[in-house]
Amino acid sequence: MAEGESARYARSEQFLARLRQEFPAFRIVPKHDNPFSHAIDLALKLVTLGAQRHYLTHYHTVIGYTLYVPPGWTQMSDVARVILLRHERVHLLQRRRYGFVLFAFLYLVPFLPLGLAYGRARLEWEAYRETLRATVELQGVASLADGRLQDEIVRRFVGGDYGWMWPFPGRVRAWIAEALAEIEALGVTPAETGPAGRVY
Ligand SMILES: [Zn+2]
Repeated sequence: MAEGESARYARSEQFLARLRQEFPAFRIVPKHDNPFSHAIDLALKLVTLGAQRHYLTHYHTVIGYTLYVPPGWTQMSDVARVILLRHERVHLLQRRRYGFVLFAFLYLVPFLPLGLAYGRARLEWEAYRETLRATVELQGVASLADGRLQDEIVRRFVGGDYGWMWPFPGRVRAWIAEALAEIEALGVTPAETGPAGRVY
């Protein structure tokens, strides 16, 4: 990484260094020139009848100890990367907690039938709680005032992107409200208020 680049990404590089200590096998691989990611993309298009068309272009995905990133990774701000990496770290911890086979089972097998993927919804919810916490800490609670992040989280749970994993918007909004109340009760104070941006 060039000198200017590492200054621009000082916080996320620092977070990555700690993440690599915690998970030595961790690595980041771009999706666009990775045949494995293209195979998953095709499978997802088939199984969701085209509802998940953005796997290669919009989604960050942890498989094993590898984070597969879309082209947008290079455009993300330093803070947005830290928030994303904090979400993905939860998946790395889950993978360690359950082992690869059980983690893959919880995450993937309940994909069938589409629609009520309880295992995946619980794993993703744990990670999105961390997304909310990281957003409040790094961008301030005011960055949630427009409700865009909350809407995006609801969309991800109820829509086709993750196979309609938990199609109950009211329930997901209640989870978000509970998480935000908990974050507030813990008195999480913004470490720094940066410009609100796309955070994953
Ligand atoms: Zn996730």
